[in-house]
Amino acid sequence: LLEIEHLYKSYDNNPPVLKDISFQIQKGEVIVILGPSGCGKSTLLRCLNGLEVFQAGNIKLDGESITRSKKDWPQIRQKIGMVFQSYDLFAHMTVMENILLGPIKVQKRNKEEASLQAEKLLERVGLSDKKDAYPRQLSGGQKQRVAIVRALCMNPEILLFDEVTAALDPEMVREVLDVILELAKAGTTMAIVTHEMKFAKAVADRILFIDQGEIIEENTPKAFFENPSTLRAKQFLNIFN
Ligand code: ATP
Ligand code: MG
Repeated sequence: LLEIEHLYKSYDNNPPVLKDISFQIQKGEVIVILGPSGCGKSTLLRCLNGLEVFQAGNIKLDGESITRSKKDWPQIRQKIGMVFQSYDLFAHMTVMENILLGPIKVQKRNKEEASLQAEKLLERVGLSDKKDAYPRQLSGGQKQRVAIVRALCMNPEILLFDEVTAALDPEMVREVLDVILELAKAGTTMAIVTHEMKFAKAVADRILFIDQGEIIEENTPKAFFENPSTLRAKQFLNIFN
């Protein structure tokens, strides 16, 4: 579904923060990207979503090269959805209005049809009763679930998650992770950056471990967590034990 080939990315004239990154994501697969702070995880997801330009390499979606020209990105972002640490809901719009903005304004879909889908998705994440609420009336966990619904309502082919629970109080982390686990079970294709190791182990089909801008280990969760093959991965995992 998504192929990344020899991706290099640097900011301004600094040394590259991503070096020769290559991997693939198959349809229905869940990839978890792990690595120390500053290793380039967010930069990588942002490159996949067209939020950052990259200097070399190739990204292919459905076998077609994604060009680096800006004009194609709005189109591509409909296929590659992203959820961030800060949910970025519009404060002056209700939950439903936030969710429908993309489907109606960008995708030009029929309002009734999109609303119906939005309602189904809200039900799926346990927020049916909040569709007319404003973001300030919601908890952090609820806002993040709305942000996930907003991304899903665009019917993306793949969803990217960048530390979506990092800003949440501990008691709200679970409800958001459960939604993502649910999506995984339903066969949603996802690339997830997280610092929640138990969750990573449970949700991932494959783990990519990045250090200093390079993929240094790519493995099944079982192999990665029980028997990491590199010293750097061992050291990384020790922090969490
Ligand atoms: P964390 O786990 O802390 O979120 P990360 O793995 O997501 O870290 P990135 O945010 O991708 O790391 O950053 C990778 C490197 O690129 C870091 O050294 C960072 O300082 C640098 N960097 C990130 N954004 C920019 C930017 N806009 N301009 C310049 N350098 C940047
Ligand atoms: Mg990051």
